[in-house]
Amino acid sequence: MVYETGNTTVDDAVDRVLAGEQLDRTDGLALMAQPVDVLAQAGATVRDAFGDGTVDACSIVNAKAGNCAEDCGFCAQSVHFDTGIDTYDFLGPEKILEAAKRAERDGAQRFGIVVAEKGVSKEHRPEEWEEVLESIRLVRDECELEVDASLGILTAEEARILADEGINHYNHNIETSPRYFPEIVNTHSFEDRVQTLKTAKEAGMDLCAGVILGMGETPTDRVDAAIALQDIGISSLPVNVLNPVEGTPLAERDVQITTEEIIKTVAVYKLLHPNSRVRLTGGREVNLDPDEQHLPLEAGADGLLTGDYLTTEGQSPAEDIEIVERAGLEPNMAVNEFDPVEVKRRNGVGESAEPADESASSAGPEPGDD
Ligand code: SF4
Repeated sequence: MVYETGNTTVDDAVDRVLAGEQLDRTDGLALMAQPVDVLAQAGATVRDAFGDGTVDACSIVNAKAGNCAEDCGFCAQSVHFDTGIDTYDFLGPEKILEAAKRAERDGAQRFGIVVAEKGVSKEHRPEEWEEVLESIRLVRDECELEVDASLGILTAEEARILADEGINHYNHNIETSPRYFPEIVNTHSFEDRVQTLKTAKEAGMDLCAGVILGMGETPTDRVDAAIALQDIGISSLPVNVLNPVEGTPLAERDVQITTEEIIKTVAVYKLLHPNSRVRLTGGREVNLDPDEQHLPLEAGADGLLTGDYLTTEGQSPAEDIEIVERAGLEPNMAVNEFDPVEVKRRNGVGESAEPADESASSAGPEPGDD
């Protein structure tokens, strides 16, 4: 069905996406200037045409926290900033398995092992590298979950080993546009990040790579980040919204993003990436009111990071299921079949709710982004 809005810019873009054409930067910039309600309908049309009506949920464990030598201006885990977060060494395979089992029970389809640093190094920290591999094997053996990893910069050899171990998605966010990246990070470059994504892809892993909105970037930067991701070729596009952590440089800048800008960006991203899951991730709970959280899903998003983030708490998986249902969509169960009613009951959410069971929440280690 061809989408009709009376807005020729958007109608034309939707028609071309539905016909299999990839939109470009000029299209993205023109779309970003259109009204939010029209874009939201367009994003939903494209999502419905390319997807299966489900929202995919992933969960992460912050397997090693803090003391990162890099200086990403949004990140609580950088050693350059005094943020007061709990720091800890690599959790070890058993604790990671515990977190994976919680995620599985809460309806996650994929589970990401995240290590906060520039890169886990097989050469420089072989014991930690082996522990990461052992953790991947354990989770793959004992859970019905796709296992993803976010271990920072990779060598070609490391990428090949991870692909052979069955890592499904490699996550490495580009954070923002090539132009704005140096305003946020000094210790490594945008190109460093792109190179790791290319290395991971060449080894055979699918890519999960996205952005953080609300860091002071312009709408043009948001489009340019999405175009850079088109060039790389991704299958999951996480959209974080800055949740400023006291002590980080970005918490001291007066930067904000409106609900309308978030929804417009999600919709435009779906038109620019019709075959990728546009995934709502960190910061959505603090930047959107509770009765607004379903709106990006209504505008074309089709993925969620559920549970806690790297250094900030998320809401319960049951609340996320309610948001998915409010948007008229269903949770994805392709990998891990679960009972949404049971998840809500356990978490004390909805009509059949029982008092909340603390152990059922996915409160893992302190949750961020990488
Ligand atoms: S985002 Fe990653 S690389 Fe940057 S400071 Fe945080 S943990 Fe380190």
